[in-house]
Amino acid sequence: MKFHFALSLLTLLATQLFADTRPNIIIMLADDLGYGDVGFTGNQIVETPNLDRLANEGVIFQNGYVTHPYCGPSRAGLITGRYQARFGMEINLTYSPYDIHSGLPLDEKTFGQRLQPAGYQTGIIGKWHLGASYPFHPNNRGFDYFYGFLSGGHDYFPDSVNTHHPLLLPDGRPHYSANEGVYQPLLRNTNAAEFDEYLTTALSKDAARFVKDSDKPFCLYLAYNAPHASLEAPKEVIDKYSQVENKKRRTYLAMIDAMDQGIGIVIEALKESGKFDNTLIFFLSDNGGVQSKPGYEHEVWADNGPLRNGKGSMREGGSHVPFIAHWPKGLPSGIIYPHPVSSLDLSATAVALAGGDTSGKPLDGVNLIPYVNGEIKGVPHEALFWRTTNGTSWCVRTPEAKFLLESHGATEPELYDMVNDPYESNNIIAERPEQRQQLAQLWNEWNAINETTFLLQSGNYQKKRLQMYEALHKELQEKAKKIQPITVE
Ligand code: CA
Repeated sequence: MKFHFALSLLTLLATQLFADTRPNIIIMLADDLGYGDVGFTGNQIVETPNLDRLANEGVIFQNGYVTHPYCGPSRAGLITGRYQARFGMEINLTYSPYDIHSGLPLDEKTFGQRLQPAGYQTGIIGKWHLGASYPFHPNNRGFDYFYGFLSGGHDYFPDSVNTHHPLLLPDGRPHYSANEGVYQPLLRNTNAAEFDEYLTTALSKDAARFVKDSDKPFCLYLAYNAPHASLEAPKEVIDKYSQVENKKRRTYLAMIDAMDQGIGIVIEALKESGKFDNTLIFFLSDNGGVQSKPGYEHEVWADNGPLRNGKGSMREGGSHVPFIAHWPKGLPSGIIYPHPVSSLDLSATAVALAGGDTSGKPLDGVNLIPYVNGEIKGVPHEALFWRTTNGTSWCVRTPEAKFLLESHGATEPELYDMVNDPYESNNIIAERPEQRQQLAQLWNEWNAINETTFLLQSGNYQKKRLQMYEALHKELQEKAKKIQPITVE
C-alpha cells in the first residue's frame, strides 16, 4: 500500500515536473476567400463572429501573404515552409490516384513530417490537393490522421457523391475537368468515411473530435475548401443574406458564415477540453477571391476589399490574404502587426515551438512569435517572392516596394511604393530605375536556386492522360493477334 502510494506520488511529481507545455497548433485555411469578405477586414454584412474574436483578441497580420495566387502551389509552399518554386510544384495537380509521380515531391518534408518526431499528434482535415496516389497520401506525408478528400475541390452536399467521373461531356467530347475527385466519397485515412451533412460542418465537427481526443500536443491542418466554388450552402444560412441581390454572392457569403460557425465548433471543443489557452491558431486564405473580368461582372462573388485584382494575379488581391494568429498563453492580444509575413512562416513557427525536426532542406520562413512579441526587432522578411509556372509572371515585395510582372499576358513590369501606395494605384517604374535594378537583382538571386516546373496544370494533364490512353489502346489493337481457327486432323 505504502509502496503504491509512493509510486503514485512519484508519478504525479514527474507529470508535474515534466508536463508537456508545448502548445497545440491549428492552421485553419480558407479557400479563395476574398480579402474583404470577413468581419475583421471590414465586411459589414457577413457574420464571422468567431474569426473576428480570434482576430481582435489575437494578432492581425496587416500584410499577410501566401506564396502563390492560386490553390495547389500555395498549399505546397504552406505545408513545406519552402517556396514551391524550390521544387517546381507550381501547378494545380489533377486528382490522379494511379499516378505515382504526380504529387508533392517526396524529398520535401511537410510540417507534419517535422513535428511527428517531436512527439506531436498530427492531423489534416479537409482538402489535400498534393497528390492522390499512395506515396503522396497524407498518412505517408507526416499526418497520423486524415479526414477529407485528396482532390483539389469537393462538392458540399453528400447527395453529390458519385464515384463515376464523366470523362465525356453529354455531346461525346472529352471532358478535361480539373477536379474529377470532386464527387468522390470522403476518406478517413485510407478508408471510405461517412459524409452525411454539409461538408464544412462535417470537417469542423471532425476537427472538434480530433482536438478533444488528442492526449498529447497536436498539430492540426484544417484545410477547408470553403468558400471555393461550387457555390453551395445550407438554405437557412443563405436566407440570412436575403438582402444581397447577387445570388452567387449571397451563397458565397453563406459559405463563409458556415465556415465561421464551424470554426466556432472547434473553438468550443478546445475550451471544453481545457486546451484553448495553449493552442496557437492561425487562420488565413490560400489565395485571393476570384477576380472580375470585363463583361463577367455577374460572375464575380468575392470582394478583395481595397486590394487590386484577385485570384491568379501578382497584384495584391492575388496573394495578400486575411491572416491572423491567436494564442492566449504565448501571444499578446489586440495587436496589429504591420510588417510583411508569409504562409512560409507557419512551418518555421510550428517547428520552433514543437522542437521539431529541422533536418533536410532549409526552410524559407521564420518563427513569427519573437517578432510579434517584440523580442526581435526588425522585419521577418527583407523580401518576399512570387513566380508562376516558368516565370510567365513574377513579383518581389520588400517592406518598401513591389516590383512585378502581372499575369495574363502583360509585357511591362510595374513598380509600386508600398508605404505610400499600398493599393497599387500609381505605377512609378519610370521614376525609379535604381530601385527597379535592386529589386530585379533580389528576385534573380532568389530564382537562381529554384527548379523548373515539370508537372502539368490539371486541365492539360487530363488532356494528355486521355491522349495516352488513346495511344495505348491503339497500340494494343495493332499488336493484337487474330486467333486462328482450331484445326482438326
Ligand atoms: Ca484556392
